[in-house]
Amino acid sequence: MIESDLLPQFSGYIADQWTGTTDEAGIPVTNPATGETLAEITKLGRTETLRAIDAAEASLSEPASLEQRREWLHQIVTVLQANREEIGRILTLEHGKPVAEAQGEVDYAAGFFRFCGDNIEQLGPRTIDEQPKDCTWTVHHRPAGVVGLVTPWNFPIGMIAKKLSAALAADCACVIKPSSKTPLTMMSLFTLIDRHLNLPRGKLNLVVGSANPITNALFEHSAVRIVSFTGSTEVGKHLIEQSATGVKRLTLELGGNAPYIVFEDADLDYAADQLMGNKFRGGGQTCVCANRVFVHQRVADTFAEKVTERVRALQVGDGMASGVNIGPLIDDNAVDKVRRHVQDALDKGAKRVYQGDTQGMRGTYYPPTVLSNVPQDALCNDEETFGPLVPLIPFGSDAELVAAANDTDFGLAAYVFTADTERGQRVIAQLKFAHAALNTGTGPTPEAPFGGMKQSGYGREGGIEGLFEFTEAQTVPVANR
Ligand code: NAP
Repeated sequence: MIESDLLPQFSGYIADQWTGTTDEAGIPVTNPATGETLAEITKLGRTETLRAIDAAEASLSEPASLEQRREWLHQIVTVLQANREEIGRILTLEHGKPVAEAQGEVDYAAGFFRFCGDNIEQLGPRTIDEQPKDCTWTVHHRPAGVVGLVTPWNFPIGMIAKKLSAALAADCACVIKPSSKTPLTMMSLFTLIDRHLNLPRGKLNLVVGSANPITNALFEHSAVRIVSFTGSTEVGKHLIEQSATGVKRLTLELGGNAPYIVFEDADLDYAADQLMGNKFRGGGQTCVCANRVFVHQRVADTFAEKVTERVRALQVGDGMASGVNIGPLIDDNAVDKVRRHVQDALDKGAKRVYQGDTQGMRGTYYPPTVLSNVPQDALCNDEETFGPLVPLIPFGSDAELVAAANDTDFGLAAYVFTADTERGQRVIAQLKFAHAALNTGTGPTPEAPFGGMKQSGYGREGGIEGLFEFTEAQTVPVANR
Protein backbone atom coordinates (compact mmCIF):
# COMPACT_ATOMS: atom_id res chain seq x y z
CA MET A 1 0.00 0.00 0.00
CA ILE A 2 1.12 3.52 -0.75
CA GLU A 3 1.95 5.88 2.10
CA SER A 4 2.11 9.62 1.63
CA ASP A 5 1.42 12.75 3.60
CA LEU A 6 -0.51 13.91 0.52
CA LEU A 7 -2.84 10.91 0.71
CA PRO A 8 -4.52 11.01 4.11
CA GLN A 9 -7.74 9.85 2.41
CA PHE A 10 -8.62 7.50 -0.42
CA SER A 11 -11.99 8.98 -1.27
CA GLY A 12 -13.82 11.82 -2.99
CA TYR A 13 -14.12 15.45 -1.93
CA ILE A 14 -17.55 17.09 -1.89
CA ALA A 15 -18.51 20.44 -0.38
CA ASP A 16 -15.07 20.71 1.25
CA GLN A 17 -15.37 17.31 2.98
CA TRP A 18 -13.56 14.08 2.18
CA THR A 19 -16.46 11.81 1.35
CA GLY A 20 -16.96 8.09 1.31
CA THR A 21 -19.73 5.57 1.03
CA THR A 22 -19.90 2.05 2.33
CA ASP A 23 -22.43 0.90 -0.27
CA GLU A 24 -20.07 -0.71 -2.70
CA ALA A 25 -16.69 -2.40 -2.83
CA GLY A 26 -13.76 -0.04 -3.44
CA ILE A 27 -11.65 0.27 -6.57
CA PRO A 28 -8.12 -1.10 -6.34
CA VAL A 29 -5.36 1.10 -7.73
CA THR A 30 -2.43 -0.94 -9.00
CA ASN A 31 1.23 -0.19 -9.62
CA PRO A 32 1.72 -1.38 -13.22
CA ALA A 33 5.44 -1.89 -12.62
CA THR A 34 4.88 -4.52 -9.95
CA GLY A 35 1.20 -5.49 -9.87
CA GLU A 36 1.10 -4.36 -6.23
CA THR A 37 -2.16 -2.82 -4.95
CA LEU A 38 -1.40 0.76 -3.92
CA ALA A 39 -4.78 1.66 -2.45
CA GLU A 40 -8.42 0.72 -2.32
CA ILE A 41 -10.46 3.78 -3.36
CA THR A 42 -13.89 4.53 -2.04
CA LYS A 43 -16.19 4.23 -5.02
CA LEU A 44 -18.61 7.10 -5.49
CA GLY A 45 -21.55 7.11 -7.90
CA ARG A 46 -24.65 8.91 -9.02
CA THR A 47 -25.88 10.05 -5.59
CA GLU A 48 -22.56 11.58 -4.64
CA THR A 49 -22.13 13.20 -8.05
CA LEU A 50 -25.52 14.90 -7.79
CA ARG A 51 -24.55 16.08 -4.32
CA ALA A 52 -21.26 17.43 -5.67
CA ILE A 53 -23.10 19.31 -8.43
CA ASP A 54 -25.50 20.84 -5.89
CA ALA A 55 -22.54 21.95 -3.75
CA ALA A 56 -20.83 23.41 -6.80
CA GLU A 57 -23.97 25.26 -7.83
CA ALA A 58 -24.35 26.74 -4.34
CA SER A 59 -20.76 28.02 -4.46
CA LEU A 60 -21.60 30.15 -7.50
CA SER A 61 -23.44 32.55 -5.20
CA GLU A 62 -19.99 33.78 -4.11
CA PRO A 63 -18.41 35.21 -7.28
CA ALA A 64 -14.71 35.99 -7.10
CA SER A 65 -12.90 38.99 -8.55
CA LEU A 66 -10.22 38.61 -11.21
CA GLU A 67 -7.62 39.48 -8.57
CA GLN A 68 -8.88 36.77 -6.24
CA ARG A 69 -8.83 34.18 -9.01
CA ARG A 70 -5.33 35.21 -10.06
CA GLU A 71 -4.22 34.69 -6.48
CA TRP A 72 -5.76 31.19 -6.32
CA LEU A 73 -4.09 30.21 -9.59
CA HIS A 74 -0.70 31.42 -8.41
CA GLN A 75 -1.18 29.66 -5.06
CA ILE A 76 -1.69 26.39 -6.93
CA VAL A 77 1.55 27.01 -8.84
CA THR A 78 3.34 27.50 -5.53
CA VAL A 79 1.98 24.32 -3.90
CA LEU A 80 2.67 22.24 -7.00
CA GLN A 81 6.25 23.46 -7.13
CA ALA A 82 6.74 22.84 -3.42
CA ASN A 83 5.41 19.28 -3.73
CA ARG A 84 6.63 18.28 -7.20
CA GLU A 85 8.77 15.42 -5.92
CA GLU A 86 6.06 13.76 -3.86
CA ILE A 87 3.34 14.26 -6.47
CA GLY A 88 5.76 12.90 -9.07
CA ARG A 89 6.40 9.83 -6.91
CA ILE A 90 2.67 9.15 -6.50
CA LEU A 91 2.16 9.65 -10.23
CA THR A 92 4.92 7.19 -11.12
CA LEU A 93 3.62 4.57 -8.72
CA GLU A 94 0.12 4.58 -10.19
CA HIS A 95 0.99 5.28 -13.85
CA GLY A 96 4.42 3.74 -14.33
CA LYS A 97 6.25 6.54 -16.18
CA PRO A 98 9.83 7.36 -15.06
CA VAL A 99 9.84 9.58 -12.00
CA ALA A 100 11.81 12.42 -13.65
CA GLU A 101 9.19 12.48 -16.39
CA ALA A 102 6.41 12.47 -13.78
CA GLN A 103 7.98 15.45 -12.02
CA GLY A 104 8.24 17.15 -15.41
CA GLU A 105 4.50 16.58 -15.78
CA VAL A 106 3.94 18.39 -12.47
CA ASP A 107 5.94 21.35 -13.85
CA TYR A 108 3.88 21.20 -17.05
CA ALA A 109 0.68 21.26 -14.97
CA ALA A 110 1.93 24.23 -12.94
CA GLY A 111 2.55 26.04 -16.25
CA PHE A 112 -1.17 26.06 -17.06
CA PHE A 113 -2.11 27.62 -13.72
CA ARG A 114 0.68 30.17 -14.13
CA PHE A 115 -0.36 31.07 -17.66
CA CYS A 116 -4.02 31.52 -16.71
CA GLY A 117 -3.08 33.59 -13.64
CA ASP A 118 -0.70 35.79 -15.65
CA ASN A 119 -3.27 36.40 -18.41
CA ILE A 120 -6.51 36.54 -16.47
CA GLU A 121 -7.11 40.22 -17.25
CA GLN A 122 -8.05 39.07 -20.77
CA LEU A 123 -11.30 37.86 -19.20
CA GLY A 124 -12.25 41.36 -18.10
CA PRO A 125 -15.11 43.21 -19.84
CA ARG A 126 -14.44 44.59 -23.33
CA THR A 127 -16.21 47.73 -24.53
CA ILE A 128 -16.32 47.88 -28.29
CA ASP A 129 -15.12 51.01 -30.10
CA GLU A 130 -18.13 51.41 -32.38
CA GLN A 131 -21.39 52.63 -30.86
CA PRO A 132 -24.05 51.13 -33.15
CA LYS A 133 -27.76 51.81 -32.51
CA ASP A 134 -26.80 54.72 -30.26
CA CYS A 135 -25.65 52.36 -27.51
CA THR A 136 -22.39 51.57 -25.73
CA TRP A 137 -21.72 47.86 -26.11
CA THR A 138 -19.80 45.84 -23.55
CA VAL A 139 -18.96 42.13 -23.69
CA HIS A 140 -18.67 40.39 -20.31
CA HIS A 141 -17.03 36.97 -20.06
CA ARG A 142 -19.27 35.31 -17.50
CA PRO A 143 -18.52 31.97 -15.86
CA ALA A 144 -20.38 29.17 -17.67
CA GLY A 145 -21.56 27.79 -14.29
CA VAL A 146 -20.94 24.30 -12.97
CA VAL A 147 -18.59 22.34 -15.21
CA GLY A 148 -17.77 18.64 -15.28
CA LEU A 149 -14.11 17.77 -15.94
CA VAL A 150 -13.39 14.18 -16.98
CA THR A 151 -9.77 13.08 -17.46
CA PRO A 152 -7.81 10.03 -18.63
CA TRP A 153 -5.00 8.08 -16.95
CA ASN A 154 -2.11 8.95 -19.26
CA PHE A 155 -1.35 12.38 -17.76
CA PRO A 156 -2.87 12.17 -14.26
CA ILE A 157 -2.04 15.81 -13.41
CA GLY A 158 -1.31 17.38 -16.80
CA MET A 159 -4.79 16.83 -18.20
CA ILE A 160 -6.70 18.17 -15.21
CA ALA A 161 -4.39 21.20 -15.04
CA LYS A 162 -5.39 22.24 -18.57
CA LYS A 163 -9.06 22.21 -17.64
CA LEU A 164 -9.03 23.31 -14.01
CA SER A 165 -6.78 26.33 -14.63
CA ALA A 166 -9.14 27.77 -17.25
CA ALA A 167 -12.29 26.82 -15.28
CA LEU A 168 -10.98 28.56 -12.13
CA ALA A 169 -9.87 31.56 -14.17
CA ALA A 170 -13.43 31.83 -15.50
CA ASP A 171 -14.81 31.50 -11.93
CA CYS A 172 -16.68 28.26 -12.65
CA ALA A 173 -17.38 25.59 -10.03
CA CYS A 174 -16.11 22.12 -10.87
CA VAL A 175 -17.00 18.48 -10.45
CA ILE A 176 -13.96 16.44 -11.41
CA LYS A 177 -13.84 12.79 -12.37
CA PRO A 178 -10.34 11.35 -12.86
CA SER A 179 -9.66 7.96 -14.40
CA SER A 180 -10.21 5.25 -11.79
CA LYS A 181 -6.86 3.79 -12.94
CA THR A 182 -4.90 6.82 -11.64
CA PRO A 183 -6.96 8.74 -9.05
CA LEU A 184 -4.20 9.12 -6.42
CA THR A 185 -2.39 12.00 -8.13
CA MET A 186 -5.68 13.92 -8.28
CA MET A 187 -6.31 13.18 -4.59
CA SER A 188 -2.91 14.61 -3.73
CA LEU A 189 -3.82 17.78 -5.65
CA PHE A 190 -7.07 18.03 -3.69
CA THR A 191 -5.21 17.54 -0.41
CA LEU A 192 -3.05 20.54 -1.28
CA ILE A 193 -6.03 22.64 -2.39
CA ASP A 194 -7.87 21.73 0.82
CA ARG A 195 -4.85 22.68 2.95
CA HIS A 196 -3.69 25.83 1.22
CA LEU A 197 -6.52 27.54 -0.66
CA ASN A 198 -9.45 29.31 0.87
CA LEU A 199 -12.03 28.66 -1.83
CA PRO A 200 -15.79 29.11 -1.46
CA ARG A 201 -17.31 25.92 -0.05
CA GLY A 202 -18.15 23.46 -2.84
CA LYS A 203 -16.21 25.25 -5.57
CA LEU A 204 -14.07 22.21 -6.39
CA ASN A 205 -15.35 18.66 -5.98
CA LEU A 206 -13.84 15.28 -6.71
CA VAL A 207 -15.78 12.11 -7.46
CA VAL A 208 -14.01 8.82 -8.12
CA GLY A 209 -15.82 5.72 -9.27
CA SER A 210 -17.20 3.88 -12.28
CA ALA A 211 -17.51 6.25 -15.21
CA ASN A 212 -21.12 5.87 -16.29
CA PRO A 213 -23.03 6.73 -13.09
CA ILE A 214 -20.86 9.82 -12.66
CA THR A 215 -20.99 11.13 -16.21
CA ASN A 216 -24.70 10.32 -16.56
CA ALA A 217 -25.35 12.51 -13.52
CA LEU A 218 -23.28 15.32 -15.05
CA PHE A 219 -25.44 15.26 -18.18
CA GLU A 220 -28.68 14.91 -16.25
CA HIS A 221 -28.30 17.86 -13.86
CA SER A 222 -29.41 21.20 -15.33
CA ALA A 223 -26.76 23.20 -13.42
CA VAL A 224 -23.94 21.57 -15.38
CA ARG A 225 -23.36 23.70 -18.47
CA ILE A 226 -20.09 22.31 -19.85
CA VAL A 227 -18.51 18.89 -19.79
CA SER A 228 -14.84 18.98 -20.70
CA PHE A 229 -13.55 15.54 -21.56
CA THR A 230 -10.16 14.14 -22.49
CA GLY A 231 -10.09 10.52 -23.53
CA SER A 232 -10.87 8.17 -26.37
CA THR A 233 -12.86 9.13 -29.46
CA GLU A 234 -15.18 6.20 -28.79
CA VAL A 235 -16.29 7.59 -25.42
CA GLY A 236 -16.28 11.15 -26.81
CA LYS A 237 -18.87 10.19 -29.42
CA HIS A 238 -21.07 8.71 -26.71
CA LEU A 239 -20.83 11.98 -24.75
CA ILE A 240 -21.85 13.99 -27.83
CA GLU A 241 -25.08 11.98 -27.95
CA GLN A 242 -25.64 12.46 -24.23
CA SER A 243 -25.08 16.20 -24.45
CA ALA A 244 -28.06 16.71 -26.79
CA THR A 245 -30.81 16.38 -24.18
CA GLY A 246 -29.64 19.23 -21.97
CA VAL A 247 -27.84 21.12 -24.80
CA LYS A 248 -24.59 20.99 -22.81
CA ARG A 249 -21.46 22.45 -24.29
CA LEU A 250 -18.58 20.02 -24.71
CA THR A 251 -14.85 20.35 -24.99
CA LEU A 252 -13.50 17.12 -26.44
CA GLU A 253 -9.80 16.25 -26.47
CA LEU A 254 -9.86 12.85 -28.12
CA GLY A 255 -7.59 10.29 -29.71
CA GLY A 256 -4.76 10.90 -32.15
CA ASN A 257 -2.85 9.09 -34.89
CA ALA A 258 0.15 11.35 -35.36
CA PRO A 259 2.23 11.18 -38.53
CA TYR A 260 5.96 11.81 -38.01
CA ILE A 261 7.35 12.71 -41.42
CA VAL A 262 11.03 12.55 -42.36
CA PHE A 263 11.95 13.91 -45.80
CA GLU A 264 15.10 12.82 -47.64
CA ASP A 265 16.76 16.21 -47.00
CA ALA A 266 16.19 16.18 -43.23
CA ASP A 267 18.98 16.00 -40.67
CA LEU A 268 18.45 12.31 -39.91
CA ASP A 269 20.36 12.22 -36.63
CA TYR A 270 18.39 15.16 -35.31
CA ALA A 271 15.07 13.68 -36.52
CA ALA A 272 15.94 10.38 -34.82
CA ASP A 273 16.87 12.17 -31.57
CA GLN A 274 13.60 14.11 -31.60
CA LEU A 275 11.65 10.91 -32.27
CA MET A 276 12.97 9.34 -29.06
CA GLY A 277 11.52 12.09 -26.85
CA ASN A 278 8.32 12.28 -28.84
CA LYS A 279 7.58 8.59 -29.25
CA PHE A 280 8.62 7.14 -25.91
CA ARG A 281 7.25 9.71 -23.47
CA GLY A 282 4.86 7.88 -21.16
CA GLY A 283 5.98 4.62 -22.78
CA GLY A 284 4.35 5.74 -26.04
CA GLN A 285 1.01 6.27 -24.29
CA THR A 286 0.33 9.86 -25.31
CA CYS A 287 -2.22 11.25 -27.74
CA VAL A 288 0.46 13.33 -29.52
CA CYS A 289 3.21 10.75 -29.86
CA ALA A 290 4.27 9.58 -33.32
CA ASN A 291 1.98 6.73 -34.29
CA ARG A 292 3.04 6.46 -37.95
CA VAL A 293 6.61 7.29 -38.94
CA PHE A 294 6.75 8.13 -42.66
CA VAL A 295 10.30 8.11 -44.07
CA HIS A 296 11.29 9.00 -47.62
CA GLN A 297 12.26 5.78 -49.38
CA ARG A 298 15.73 7.12 -50.28
CA VAL A 299 16.71 7.42 -46.59
CA ALA A 300 14.48 4.71 -45.11
CA ASP A 301 17.27 2.20 -44.35
CA THR A 302 19.65 4.81 -42.93
CA PHE A 303 16.93 6.29 -40.73
CA ALA A 304 15.92 2.80 -39.52
CA GLU A 305 19.53 2.19 -38.43
CA LYS A 306 19.73 5.52 -36.60
CA VAL A 307 16.44 4.94 -34.81
CA THR A 308 17.39 1.38 -33.88
CA GLU A 309 20.70 2.49 -32.42
CA ARG A 310 18.82 4.87 -30.14
CA VAL A 311 16.00 2.48 -29.24
CA ARG A 312 18.54 -0.20 -28.35
CA ALA A 313 19.95 2.17 -25.71
CA LEU A 314 16.60 2.63 -23.95
CA GLN A 315 16.26 1.10 -20.52
CA VAL A 316 12.91 -0.44 -19.68
CA GLY A 317 11.93 -0.92 -16.06
CA ASP A 318 10.22 0.37 -12.93
CA GLY A 319 9.82 4.15 -13.28
CA MET A 320 11.11 4.59 -9.73
CA ALA A 321 14.51 3.09 -10.62
CA SER A 322 17.28 5.39 -11.77
CA GLY A 323 18.31 5.29 -15.43
CA VAL A 324 14.95 3.94 -16.62
CA ASN A 325 13.58 5.61 -19.79
CA ILE A 326 10.45 3.52 -20.32
CA GLY A 327 8.09 2.20 -17.69
CA PRO A 328 5.36 -0.40 -17.98
CA LEU A 329 2.16 0.08 -19.95
CA ILE A 330 -0.94 0.88 -17.95
CA ASP A 331 -2.42 -2.65 -17.96
CA ASP A 332 -2.64 -6.02 -19.73
CA ASN A 333 -5.11 -4.70 -22.31
CA ALA A 334 -2.57 -2.08 -23.37
CA VAL A 335 0.12 -4.76 -23.78
CA ASP A 336 -2.26 -6.93 -25.82
CA LYS A 337 -3.03 -4.04 -28.17
CA VAL A 338 0.64 -3.37 -28.99
CA ARG A 339 1.25 -7.10 -29.46
CA ARG A 340 -1.72 -7.26 -31.86
CA HIS A 341 -0.46 -4.28 -33.88
CA VAL A 342 3.05 -5.73 -34.18
CA GLN A 343 1.80 -9.16 -35.24
CA ASP A 344 -0.64 -7.67 -37.75
CA ALA A 345 2.10 -5.56 -39.39
CA LEU A 346 4.46 -8.57 -39.55
CA ASP A 347 1.69 -10.71 -41.07
CA LYS A 348 1.21 -8.04 -43.75
CA GLY A 349 4.88 -7.96 -44.75
CA ALA A 350 6.63 -5.57 -42.34
CA LYS A 351 10.15 -6.43 -41.19
CA ARG A 352 11.15 -6.57 -37.53
CA VAL A 353 14.27 -4.43 -37.28
CA TYR A 354 14.58 -4.48 -33.51
CA GLN A 355 12.70 -5.69 -30.47
CA GLY A 356 13.94 -5.26 -26.90
CA ASP A 357 13.59 -7.91 -24.24
CA THR A 358 11.20 -7.67 -21.30
CA GLN A 359 10.77 -11.36 -20.68
CA GLY A 360 10.62 -12.28 -17.03
CA MET A 361 9.70 -8.74 -15.94
CA ARG A 362 6.83 -8.72 -13.45
CA GLY A 363 4.77 -5.70 -14.54
CA THR A 364 2.79 -4.93 -17.70
CA TYR A 365 5.76 -4.32 -20.01
CA TYR A 366 6.11 -4.40 -23.77
CA PRO A 367 9.60 -4.19 -25.30
CA PRO A 368 10.42 -1.19 -27.51
CA THR A 369 10.10 -2.34 -31.10
CA VAL A 370 11.08 -0.99 -34.53
CA LEU A 371 9.39 -2.29 -37.68
CA SER A 372 10.26 -1.23 -41.24
CA ASN A 373 8.35 -1.49 -44.53
CA VAL A 374 5.07 -1.27 -42.68
CA PRO A 375 2.29 -1.38 -45.30
CA GLN A 376 -0.49 1.22 -45.47
CA ASP A 377 -3.17 -1.31 -44.56
CA ALA A 378 -1.54 -2.31 -41.26
CA LEU A 379 -3.71 -1.87 -38.18
CA CYS A 380 -1.14 0.46 -36.60
CA ASN A 381 -1.78 2.96 -39.40
CA ASP A 382 -5.44 3.02 -38.57
CA GLU A 383 -5.58 2.91 -34.74
CA GLU A 384 -3.54 4.50 -31.96
CA THR A 385 -1.05 1.87 -30.81
CA PHE A 386 -0.47 3.62 -27.48
CA GLY A 387 2.77 1.78 -26.82
CA PRO A 388 6.51 1.62 -27.64
CA LEU A 389 6.24 0.65 -31.31
CA VAL A 390 8.00 2.60 -34.08
CA PRO A 391 6.43 1.58 -37.41
CA LEU A 392 8.50 2.93 -40.32
CA ILE A 393 6.48 3.51 -43.50
CA PRO A 394 8.32 4.37 -46.73
CA PHE A 395 7.01 7.05 -49.11
CA GLY A 396 8.00 8.58 -52.46
CA SER A 397 6.46 11.90 -53.54
CA ASP A 398 5.21 14.78 -51.37
CA ALA A 399 1.71 14.35 -52.77
CA GLU A 400 1.68 10.65 -51.90
CA LEU A 401 2.90 11.51 -48.40
CA VAL A 402 0.23 14.15 -47.77
CA ALA A 403 -2.54 11.78 -48.91
CA ALA A 404 -1.23 8.97 -46.68
CA ALA A 405 -0.74 11.20 -43.62
CA ASN A 406 -4.28 12.60 -43.93
CA ASP A 407 -5.77 9.15 -44.48
CA THR A 408 -7.11 8.89 -40.94
CA ASP A 409 -10.19 10.02 -39.03
CA PHE A 410 -7.91 11.73 -36.48
CA GLY A 411 -6.37 15.21 -36.66
CA LEU A 412 -4.43 15.95 -33.48
CA ALA A 413 -0.64 16.19 -33.97
CA ALA A 414 1.81 15.92 -36.87
CA TYR A 415 5.57 16.44 -37.20
CA VAL A 416 7.55 17.31 -40.33
CA PHE A 417 11.34 17.16 -40.71
CA THR A 418 13.05 18.75 -43.72
CA ALA A 419 15.95 21.12 -44.43
CA ASP A 420 13.66 23.03 -46.79
CA THR A 421 11.45 25.24 -44.61
CA GLU A 422 9.25 26.30 -47.53
CA ARG A 423 8.57 22.70 -48.42
CA GLY A 424 7.80 21.96 -44.77
CA GLN A 425 5.34 24.85 -44.52
CA ARG A 426 3.73 23.84 -47.83
CA VAL A 427 3.16 20.31 -46.57
CA ILE A 428 1.93 21.52 -43.17
CA ALA A 429 -0.68 23.73 -44.86
CA GLN A 430 -2.11 20.57 -46.42
CA LEU A 431 -2.07 18.46 -43.25
CA LYS A 432 -5.37 18.24 -41.35
CA PHE A 433 -3.80 18.23 -37.89
CA ALA A 434 -4.27 21.01 -35.33
CA HIS A 435 -0.76 20.75 -33.89
CA ALA A 436 1.66 20.60 -36.82
CA ALA A 437 5.32 20.94 -35.86
CA LEU A 438 8.23 21.71 -38.18
CA ASN A 439 11.65 20.27 -37.34
CA THR A 440 10.71 19.56 -33.74
CA GLY A 441 9.00 16.68 -31.97
CA THR A 442 7.61 18.96 -29.30
CA GLY A 443 4.04 18.60 -28.06
CA PRO A 444 1.71 21.20 -26.51
CA THR A 445 2.68 24.00 -24.12
CA PRO A 446 0.53 26.07 -21.70
CA GLU A 447 1.13 29.26 -23.73
CA ALA A 448 -0.40 27.99 -27.00
CA PRO A 449 -3.82 26.56 -27.87
CA PHE A 450 -4.07 22.81 -28.37
CA GLY A 451 -6.93 20.65 -29.58
CA GLY A 452 -8.07 18.46 -32.40
CA MET A 453 -9.43 18.55 -35.93
CA LYS A 454 -11.78 15.87 -37.31
CA GLN A 455 -12.48 13.06 -34.83
CA SER A 456 -9.75 14.21 -32.46
CA GLY A 457 -12.34 16.53 -30.97
CA TYR A 458 -13.19 20.19 -30.63
CA GLY A 459 -12.48 23.11 -28.34
CA ARG A 460 -9.03 24.31 -27.31
CA GLU A 461 -6.95 24.06 -24.15
CA GLY A 462 -3.98 26.31 -23.37
CA GLY A 463 -3.14 29.73 -24.75
CA ILE A 464 -5.50 32.68 -24.81
CA GLU A 465 -8.02 30.59 -26.77
CA GLY A 466 -8.17 28.05 -23.93
CA LEU A 467 -8.64 30.79 -21.35
CA PHE A 468 -12.10 31.51 -22.78
CA GLU A 469 -13.20 27.85 -22.89
CA PHE A 470 -15.30 28.02 -19.70
CA THR A 471 -16.83 31.46 -20.23
CA GLU A 472 -20.09 32.67 -21.77
CA ALA A 473 -19.92 35.95 -23.63
CA GLN A 474 -22.74 38.19 -22.43
CA THR A 475 -23.30 41.26 -24.61
CA VAL A 476 -24.71 44.32 -22.85
CA PRO A 477 -25.80 47.33 -24.98
CA VAL A 478 -26.49 50.40 -22.83
CA ALA A 479 -28.48 53.24 -24.39
CA ASN A 480 -26.48 56.47 -24.84
CA ARG A 481 -29.04 58.77 -23.23
P1 NAP B 1 -11.17 6.65 -21.98
O1 NAP B 1 -11.31 5.19 -21.78
O2 NAP B 1 -12.03 7.29 -23.00
O3 NAP B 1 -11.36 7.32 -20.56
C1 NAP B 1 -11.25 8.70 -20.34
C2 NAP B 1 -12.11 9.09 -19.15
O4 NAP B 1 -13.47 8.78 -19.44
C3 NAP B 1 -11.78 8.32 -17.87
O5 NAP B 1 -12.03 9.14 -16.76
C4 NAP B 1 -12.75 7.17 -17.92
O6 NAP B 1 -13.05 6.64 -16.64
C5 NAP B 1 -13.99 7.85 -18.50
N1 NAP B 1 -14.89 6.93 -19.21
C6 NAP B 1 -14.65 5.66 -19.62
N2 NAP B 1 -15.75 5.15 -20.22
C7 NAP B 1 -16.70 6.10 -20.15
C8 NAP B 1 -18.06 6.17 -20.58
N3 NAP B 1 -18.65 5.15 -21.21
N4 NAP B 1 -18.75 7.30 -20.35
C9 NAP B 1 -18.15 8.35 -19.74
N5 NAP B 1 -16.88 8.35 -19.30
C10 NAP B 1 -16.15 7.25 -19.52
O7 NAP B 1 -9.67 7.02 -22.38
P2 NAP B 1 -8.35 6.58 -21.66
O8 NAP B 1 -8.04 5.18 -22.05
O9 NAP B 1 -8.41 6.92 -20.22
O10 NAP B 1 -7.29 7.58 -22.31
C11 NAP B 1 -6.63 7.33 -23.50
C12 NAP B 1 -7.27 8.09 -24.65
O11 NAP B 1 -7.26 9.48 -24.35
C13 NAP B 1 -6.48 7.96 -25.94
O12 NAP B 1 -7.37 7.80 -27.01
C14 NAP B 1 -5.75 9.29 -26.04
O13 NAP B 1 -5.41 9.64 -27.36
C15 NAP B 1 -6.75 10.21 -25.46
N6 NAP B 1 -6.11 11.45 -25.01
C16 NAP B 1 -6.34 12.59 -25.71
C17 NAP B 1 -5.71 13.76 -25.34
C18 NAP B 1 -5.93 15.04 -26.10
O14 NAP B 1 -5.49 16.08 -25.64
N7 NAP B 1 -6.59 15.01 -27.23
C19 NAP B 1 -4.87 13.78 -24.23
C20 NAP B 1 -4.67 12.59 -23.52
C21 NAP B 1 -5.31 11.43 -23.91
P3 NAP B 1 -12.35 5.29 -16.10
O15 NAP B 1 -10.90 5.36 -16.50
O16 NAP B 1 -12.56 5.37 -14.65
O17 NAP B 1 -13.06 4.16 -16.77
